[in-house]
Amino acid sequence: MERLERARRLAGEAGIDALLVTPGADLRYLTGYAAKPLERLTCLVVPADGQPFLVAPTLEVSAAEAAGVAVEIVAWNETDDPFALLAGRLGPARRIALDDEMWASRVLALRDRLPEAEQVLAGPVLTQLRMRKDAAEIEALREAAAAIDRVHARMGEWLRAGRTEREVGHDIARAIIDEGHEHVDFVIVGSGPNGASPHHEVSDRVIETGDPVVVDIGGTTPAGYCSDSTRNYLVGGPPDPRYAEAYDVLHEAQAAQRAYARPGVSAESVDRVGREIIAAAGFGDLFIHRTGHGIGTQTHEEPYIVEGNDLVLEPGMAFSIEPGIYHPGRFGARIEDIAVCTDDGLEVLNRTERRLVVLG
Ligand code: ZN
Ligand code: ZN
Ligand code: ZN
Repeated sequence: MERLERARRLAGEAGIDALLVTPGADLRYLTGYAAKPLERLTCLVVPADGQPFLVAPTLEVSAAEAAGVAVEIVAWNETDDPFALLAGRLGPARRIALDDEMWASRVLALRDRLPEAEQVLAGPVLTQLRMRKDAAEIEALREAAAAIDRVHARMGEWLRAGRTEREVGHDIARAIIDEGHEHVDFVIVGSGPNGASPHHEVSDRVIETGDPVVVDIGGTTPAGYCSDSTRNYLVGGPPDPRYAEAYDVLHEAQAAQRAYARPGVSAESVDRVGREIIAAAGFGDLFIHRTGHGIGTQTHEEPYIVEGNDLVLEPGMAFSIEPGIYHPGRFGARIEDIAVCTDDGLEVLNRTERRLVVLG
């Protein structure tokens, strides 16, 4: 309820009459209810003045209650119009804020039922809350990081020459669950030239001796928090000399960013610290993405660690530090840790070896 109260207050300050939040990370954050995104409308309404309520289909009421939803549940039956019900309960509103991921069909239905209300995004308000993690959330992120670290520590069981990326990926996915996640969010096994595509997942390419392999993996724990860590493995050896050179530079850049990031510095300056090192070594054109993203109940959320984001980091902000160097057709490398700003520094949550790990 404390989160709802803070959301209500921030909405009021932003001149918003009500926040409308459908199933997704925002709803779970505010109510604890990880509702499935189904075709029947479930929507939390947080009026700036007045009590919050959850509009939900009758058949979902027991699930909402079991999840501990602490606001009044306004149930609608199969043949009711839930949008009319919501609009009637809310009353006149000049400005309503919709969660950033609300389906377009709902946005338009709400426009029909509340024609006087200006629609704005709730993201700016909810981000203010979700970006600043409390102690329990940081502990949940620590547990997620430890779980993915245990998977990386076992990589030698699966990653070797003669196997396909897909085979290795299946084993990793099973281990992500076995080591303490509730579900697997992504498994990237980028071997040899496939490492040059940052969001390559897996393919039927057979891993060869001497291949560098980018392994970027993450899942969500039962507490609802995400892990995300990238490490680099060399299958047999020796590596392409150009790769070895790039990897050293990348390692130095990522270490410099970890040493630099702390409360009081801007998100973009963290990006710059690493980019300058990579550019000075001649690899600037090959660092083709931002340094990182916030993380919490979603793998990618605010704050983004990118040029142009002058947001000043604060204690409790959690984000990835993941510079990369991608040589098209040849190799790629990325080192990724999740870190949280403490009161006066940075706690890096992932702890596995960041140097190139030689396997098999
Ligand atoms: Zn990514
Ligand atoms: Zn990431
Ligand atoms: Zn990642």
